[in-house]
Amino acid sequence: MENRSKDFLRRIVEEDLKTGKYKEIITRFPPEPNGFPHIGHAKSISINFGIAKDYQGRCNLRMDDTNPTTEDTQYVEALKDAVEWLGFKWDKEVRYTSDYFSKLYEYAVKLIKMGKAYVDSLPEEQMREYRGTVTQAGKRSKYANRSVEENLELLEKMKNGEFKEGEHVLRAKIDMASPNMKMRDPLLYRIKHAHHFRAGDEWSIYPMYDFAHCLSDYIEGVTHSICTLEFENNREIYDWVLDTLELEPPRPYQHEFARLNINYTVMSKRKLLELVEKKIVSGWDDPRLPTIAGLRRRGYTPESILNFCEQIGVAKANSVVDVAQLEFAIRDDLNPKVPRVMCVLDPLKVTITNYEGSEELDASYYPHDVAKEGSRKVPFSKEIYIERDDFMENPTKGYYRLTPEQPVRLKHAYIIRCKEIIKDKQGNVVEIKAEYYPNSKSGSDTSGIKVRSAIQWVEANEAKKIEVRLYDRLYNKEAPEGIEDINPNSLKVVKNALIEPAVITQKPDVRFQFERHGYFFADPVEYSDDTPIFNRIVPLKDSWAKKKKATKSTPKPQPKKVQIDGEVAPMTKEQEALFAKYTKELKLNSEVANTLARDAQLSSFYEEALTTYSSPVNIANLVTNEVARELKSKSVDELKFKPKDIANLIKMVDDETISTKIAKQVFEEMSKSGQEPQQIVESRGLVQISDPAVLLPIIDEVMAKNPKNVEKFRAGNSKLFGFFVGEVLKATKGKGNPKMVNELIKKRLF
Ligand code: ATP
Ligand code: MG
Repeated sequence: MENRSKDFLRRIVEEDLKTGKYKEIITRFPPEPNGFPHIGHAKSISINFGIAKDYQGRCNLRMDDTNPTTEDTQYVEALKDAVEWLGFKWDKEVRYTSDYFSKLYEYAVKLIKMGKAYVDSLPEEQMREYRGTVTQAGKRSKYANRSVEENLELLEKMKNGEFKEGEHVLRAKIDMASPNMKMRDPLLYRIKHAHHFRAGDEWSIYPMYDFAHCLSDYIEGVTHSICTLEFENNREIYDWVLDTLELEPPRPYQHEFARLNINYTVMSKRKLLELVEKKIVSGWDDPRLPTIAGLRRRGYTPESILNFCEQIGVAKANSVVDVAQLEFAIRDDLNPKVPRVMCVLDPLKVTITNYEGSEELDASYYPHDVAKEGSRKVPFSKEIYIERDDFMENPTKGYYRLTPEQPVRLKHAYIIRCKEIIKDKQGNVVEIKAEYYPNSKSGSDTSGIKVRSAIQWVEANEAKKIEVRLYDRLYNKEAPEGIEDINPNSLKVVKNALIEPAVITQKPDVRFQFERHGYFFADPVEYSDDTPIFNRIVPLKDSWAKKKKATKSTPKPQPKKVQIDGEVAPMTKEQEALFAKYTKELKLNSEVANTLARDAQLSSFYEEALTTYSSPVNIANLVTNEVARELKSKSVDELKFKPKDIANLIKMVDDETISTKIAKQVFEEMSKSGQEPQQIVESRGLVQISDPAVLLPIIDEVMAKNPKNVEKFRAGNSKLFGFFVGEVLKATKGKGNPKMVNELIKKRLF
């Protein structure tokens, strides 16, 4: 914990421990069991369980089961699985809001007795009408005057199922003129004649989220109730319920963070359910889904998901994370660990005419890391298969693999040369006759023959047939709306791939790199000895980034990297030193550090930015993404912005003046106009106005323009409050911070 910069939630927790507000930290993960959990839930899980773990506290797993019609035990199981698979332990038994139904009911009775809740019987439509609008105060129902006795009797009858659905509701008596619509006498209970998967038919009323959640937290002794930003406006009810009931302290407090959104992905259980129900995917665990079950089946590791959650961080502003970052996380996790093996997806036969007999070649599983031990025997004979596109009869410029003129190395084996091309009637290449160089064996090559690459291959008789499933993004659009944006090519099944025999005899649950194809995982559901099936977890490189770049203007030629079978050239001593500094001292992730260390222009730009303002991780991200992109088509001198501008831009993100999303927008503007970031943010008005010094004159002006309304308000017409808020927000063109505006108007009017 010491070195890692702490997120705002951990800072709050530490403060609360320091001041003695709580003795022990208790958090909870409170999903509704109405669908399988997804990677967004993983973020919430890693925050809630992670904080409990970091501060020796406890975290509860609570099923928020207050909506009997959509909930199911299969989802409860999926949620438990997900938490366990990610490596966390919940405190004691799994908890259920439904376990508290009786207690919650008692609290409702107490509120009625305090005159703070009433049974309302307005028809739904009227109730909506009475609620008012953002700019107009609501009106209280006549039923709010019911006596305590009448309310108690009605609630009891509601509970016993004596009324139809919608006939009555229980509401809190708060404030029909509140600027926060949620505070306008919110519903606490509604009638629902539904069977509950745990409570059975005992209840004909079910509590609403705003009533059940805060009290469940309190009952469990939760200290920090961490939720996503959509619940910001619910915080006021959360506090109202707990404070009004005058509960024995300590009580929990709600804190909000930004939910995780990922591009090319949908993340709502409702939308995921639609994909499952319409059979667009094979089930909740389809490897293309962002569900934990899907990611797990695809081959993602728990570590990669937790690392991803940590890398994206905890913020208070919503943003969209690039799915490439998730893919990076799994590559980063697997790259050092997994064995490399050879698989041919689209086999082309090669007969080596001058080779006789057979042999077994010793091949390291970890050719990328000489220090790592582990190898297998790879059978070799005169009949082998190579990848169809590793041969080209009429090669394009820059093609480094097998051609009629160009020899190639068979990885771990010999160098071969093409002697003859055999074609079918249609002119398709069906076989290559080749010759090998006996003294070119990998590891003891004395042939002196130069090749430009090494390719994978399998021996024809010993190779095993496997099915390979190649996945692409499920959606074509960055911000998919629905089924219309589905990518029709998100799954490609290769039925007759060939793999070296050693792979098949492995235990299940092992991940491999198939050389030059990516990382693969034996499908845990459908794999069998008869039909071994492998899922591609992720390709070796981000092919989408390439596709996107290809459509942009042609980049300036880059210095060539020596590229042999997918491995990049080794770093120089200086680069290695930089890389070590970036990862160890500045805590950059290895991909970002790698990009910077290998690029002298970028790293000197980066270091200069740090001298203006030190936020190593955030500045590095912007430099390696946005700045690097600019440098593809420009030189450093041509850039319209300077390192200090980038530093100042990030500073505004860090101090929450602007969101990361806005930061990208500002960056685009900076690179076009050369204006300073602060100037852009101010002139384009991208900042929220929270400053009383700016807001108060506007409020005074609105009051001066409407003297009659001020008079009426002061004479007791409280409905006019909403009018003033509306006018002031209008005058700020919507940029006023509504909470601040509310507070300031209160001060001025009273
Ligand atoms: P969805 O909108 O996907 O159906 P939800 O918010 O309705 O999700 P819940 O089961 O109510 O799902 O969520 C359980 C917990 O997970 C809540 O605390 C919620 O805030 C959190 N959570 C849900 N989605 C995300 C997300 N995308 N990023 C971070 N946390 C999330
Ligand atoms: Mg929900």
